Amino acid sequence: MPFSDRELGMRRSITRRDFLNGVAVTAGAALMPWHLLAGEANSEEVAEYYPPLLTGLRGSHAGSFEVAHSLRDGTFWDAAGKPQDTGENYDLIVVGGGFSGLAAAHFYRQRAGAKARILILDNHDDFGGHARRNEFRAGNRTLIGYGGTYSIESPEPYSEVARSLIEELGIEVGSFPRYLERNLYGANGRVAKIFFDKETFGSEKLVDDPCPFPGGETYDLAVAGPKAWDHFAADAPIAEQARKDVSRLCREKKDYLRGLNTDQKKDRLARISYAQFLTELAGMHSDVIRLYQTVSQPLFGVGIDAVAALDASDTGYPGFSGMGLEAEGLDNERKYFFHFPDGNASIARLLVRKLIPEAIPGNTATDVVTARANYAKLDQAGSSVRVRLNATAVRVKHIGDPAAAKEVEVVYAREGKVYTARGKCAILACWNQMIPYLCEELPDAQKQALASATKVPLLYTTVVLRNGSAFEKLGANSIYAPGGYHSHVDIDLPVSIGGYRCPRTPDEPVVVHMSKAPCQAGLPARDQHRIGRIELLSTTFETMERRIREQLVRTLGPGGFDPARDILAITVNRWPHGYSYEYSSLWDKSVLEGGEKPCERARKTFGRIAIANSDAGAYAYTDEAINQAWRAVGELRD
Ligand SMILES: Cc1cc2nc3c(=O)[nH]c(=O)nc-3n(C[C@H](O)[C@H](O)[C@H](O)COP(=O)(O)OP(=O)(O)OC[C@H]3O[C@@H](n4cnc5c(N)ncnc54)[C@H](O)[C@@H]3O)c2cc1C
Repeated sequence: MPFSDRELGMRRSITRRDFLNGVAVTAGAALMPWHLLAGEANSEEVAEYYPPLLTGLRGSHAGSFEVAHSLRDGTFWDAAGKPQDTGENYDLIVVGGGFSGLAAAHFYRQRAGAKARILILDNHDDFGGHARRNEFRAGNRTLIGYGGTYSIESPEPYSEVARSLIEELGIEVGSFPRYLERNLYGANGRVAKIFFDKETFGSEKLVDDPCPFPGGETYDLAVAGPKAWDHFAADAPIAEQARKDVSRLCREKKDYLRGLNTDQKKDRLARISYAQFLTELAGMHSDVIRLYQTVSQPLFGVGIDAVAALDASDTGYPGFSGMGLEAEGLDNERKYFFHFPDGNASIARLLVRKLIPEAIPGNTATDVVTARANYAKLDQAGSSVRVRLNATAVRVKHIGDPAAAKEVEVVYAREGKVYTARGKCAILACWNQMIPYLCEELPDAQKQALASATKVPLLYTTVVLRNGSAFEKLGANSIYAPGGYHSHVDIDLPVSIGGYRCPRTPDEPVVVHMSKAPCQAGLPARDQHRIGRIELLSTTFETMERRIREQLVRTLGPGGFDPARDILAITVNRWPHGYSYEYSSLWDKSVLEGGEKPCERARKTFGRIAIANSDAGAYAYTDEAINQAWRAVGELRD
């Protein structure tokens, strides 16, 4: 459906731009390294340095990955000048300022004392890794969104270590319902919807979703409306048989593997995809597959063709309720849940506050939500812990024989120059795939195992709308778009916490989250991720912006939404290296059959270098990032 750039508002001056040193810089500026904008070597010391407010293409932003890619391509060292010695000596150098790196620094201080000198390097212009804060100004009001890690949640219960850290940071997970303004959506009838697009379904319609799948980002607020089944039966532009099949799938309790015991059922479900389960076992019409093909993307990073039916069952997808396979994890997951308006970025900020109190004002787990981080304090000469941003580690090696060495040297690139620093030990809390390029001295088998941990690409887009009236008029709070550029369009959970008040009325500006997992159905999962990663890295912000505007007007237009008038800001959080790869019974059968897993082989401590990060556990959750940090610190040699 063609919309002109004018209708879409492509040239409208929204906040794709920021103000630095009083100068307005336009769209492309969000892509520029800070030091170019600020004209200073230590850009974080510029008062305006506040990355959460940057819009445009964020996540793995321009300037964050080029060094790593040239290292991969073998071109880095040809172009790099001779490293300059900073003369800095630390007890510990951590590569990676995500959860795992920050937690490792924290655990190390517990072990070595608060005076331990620690340097944390991260290639991004913000700390927190995937836990990324998006912040906006709309008039005189601040709006907060999440650009990555959404919440404290995990299919498995948090370990003692991870829970203790969360508690130590002052977060009372059980208190979440207190901050959730539940009746803003539920009670006034804003419900889950499905947007059927013309290209996929022949006609364009927004229809009540009678059976919202779990695993999205709306906690339990994405509920079916009271007349959802009637609406769906009357309006969904799919074959009549398919509409009946959806009803059967979601409402009937049927055992599709009668005659098998529980273990046999699990074994069978582990070997087929959810799409196969729907067609081959549940006998669903092909339109049902089209309808649900992308429903699993936010959680699994692939469509239902590549998700094992057993994983679908464990997640609570429909079709298994009569099979005697009750998913044990689900209750735990619901109970142990906490969502800050910026997702887990608040937890990263709490960790940074613990490590460097001057950097984040305040002293509670709720006041952190509105606290403005002072980035100039992150890397101060007199501080025992220093977080150095915009710094990509390019080499980590022992000084001398790894078995006997007393020190490691870490070389990093920052703002076009290369530097060295020394540490008594190092923790690599960065992505596993990067480590073979950093650490040439590792054994080949370990390097191979590290390299196999390719990640799952994801796109998390945050859009600020002038108001939420279109959602209100359409009665929607969460929209699944099977054929959309983004598969999910949600108003964020209404959470008011600390000094932050979420939008409460339809005429207030509202933060909308859109998510997409770029992938290509029909291929093995890893190939899908590889293709998706290339797609993310090669798509311009302009193209993404056009797709976002087009998707929003097609979905919300009938509710009075005008993209040229109503979009105030867009931040696209691009994560070509997103979730840690989790082994799947469909694609990694031999790995799951027993023996040492690649992630176990990959994370072995080597001399004075230990390996943390969520890849080290092949598990894409915050608790694993913490668990692996704990293990890595425990394995460090004194
Ligand atoms: C979009 C998205 C949503 C998610 N949602 C959730 C959620 O709701 N709940 C949940 O529990 N988990 C979620 N996750 C998983 C998330 O990855 C983990 O929770 C956790 O944040 C991982 O922490 P980490 O420190 O292991 O990795 P990261 O957060 O990725 O941090 C590693 C850091 O190391 C940096 N680095 C890499 N190489 C180098 C180098 N050479 N030099 C310097 N720095 C380097 C990276 O750029 C990165 O900043 C989500 C992930 C994504 C991508």
